[in-house]
Parts: sequence; structure tokens; C-alpha cells
Amino acid sequence: MISQGEGNSKRKWSIQDFEIGKPLGKGKFGRVYLAREVKSKYMVALKIIFKEQVEKYRIQHQLRREMEIQTSLRHPNILRLYGWFHDSERIFLILEYAYGGELYNQLRKHGHFTEEQAATYIASLTTALAYCHEKHVIHRDIKPENLLLDHEVTVLAWQVTMLT
Ligand code: ATP
Ligand code: MG
Repeated sequence: MISQGEGNSKRKWSIQDFEIGKPLGKGKFGRVYLAREVKSKYMVALKIIFKEQVEKYRIQHQLRREMEIQTSLRHPNILRLYGWFHDSERIFLILEYAYGGELYNQLRKHGHFTEEQAATYIASLTTALAYCHEKHVIHRDIKPENLLLDHEVTVLAWQVTMLT
């Protein structure tokens, strides 16, 4: 199990610790790959961000702040950031793997959700948001593209680059 929690926060990860699998998607600042931690065989999503891009768009502070926030949030409906590491060119974010991908793609595929499905997603989302607001964190970019689905088909809200 991957953990950077209490007592283990000094764990130094490197690209050697992971086997890289299929691409999961591409964002404005990075590419996301399915990956497996070699020792534990634990599946994660590895987001790779090029430092050059970070510098070009001057998002160093924003990125660091988002990483701090995402690391500190612990809720079953909020995507976990387990840890991160970097090399000379890239920053790697070790993210919880959301098996079902974007809610947006599900919506496109099916056209609509049943009332029960929609209610389940909204319930997950509201508990996640209530938790954020309790912690005085606001998301600022809630939309189907930023809602990812996991095995149990609950919504995992939160993704990088909302703070400007
Ligand atoms: P931004 O750079 O604004 O966050 P984005 O959300 O489009 O843009 P990424 O967060 O880099 O980009 O993610 C790109 C895509 O990769 C997502 O849209 C999603 O489909 C997929 N993805 C990202 N993170 C995960 C994850 N943890 N599990 C599964 N798929 C993911
Ligand atoms: Mg996003």
C-alpha cells in the first residue's frame, strides 16, 4: 500500500519504483499514466508535469499550494495525492487511480443517468464538498470532467489547477 502518511512522510519515491502502463489522459500541464508500484503492486495514476511548462505559465506557487491541499484532504470521495517526486525535467504526482475515468465520458456514452445514478453521484459530491468547506477549502471548478469514478462508482472530486 502506498502511503505518505504519519511516520512515513520522508519516503523518497523515484520513477524506478513504478512500472508505467497505458496513458489515462492528457491535461493542460501534464500527461497521466496508469502505473504500478513495483514492490506492493499497488495501482496508481502517475501524473507527469514538465517543469518547463510550470515555469512558462508561472504556476509554481499554485501547483505547490494545490499539492499541499490535496495531500491534506482525506475523504473517501476526494482523489488522494499519495506523494510526489521529481527529476531534472519533470514533476511526478502519485495519484489514486480512478478506475472509471471521467464522469463526463460516462454521461456522453449513456446520454443521461438514471435518477438513482444521478442521486448517487450528487450524494458523493456533496459529502466531498461539505468536507472541503469544513476545512475552508473551495474547489472552484466542479464539472463532470473533474469528477472521476472509482470501482464502487462513487465520485471523487478534486483535481489540480483550480486555484488562480
Ligand atoms: P488540468 O491540467 O486542468 O487538471 P485535466 O483535468 O484535463 O486538466 P489532468 O488532470 O492532467 O488534466 O488529467 C487528464 C486526464 O487524465 C483526465 O481528464 C482523466 O481522464 C485522466 N485522469 C487524470 N487523473 C486520473 C486518475 N487519478 N485516475 C484516472 N484517470 C485520471
Ligand atoms: Mg481536470
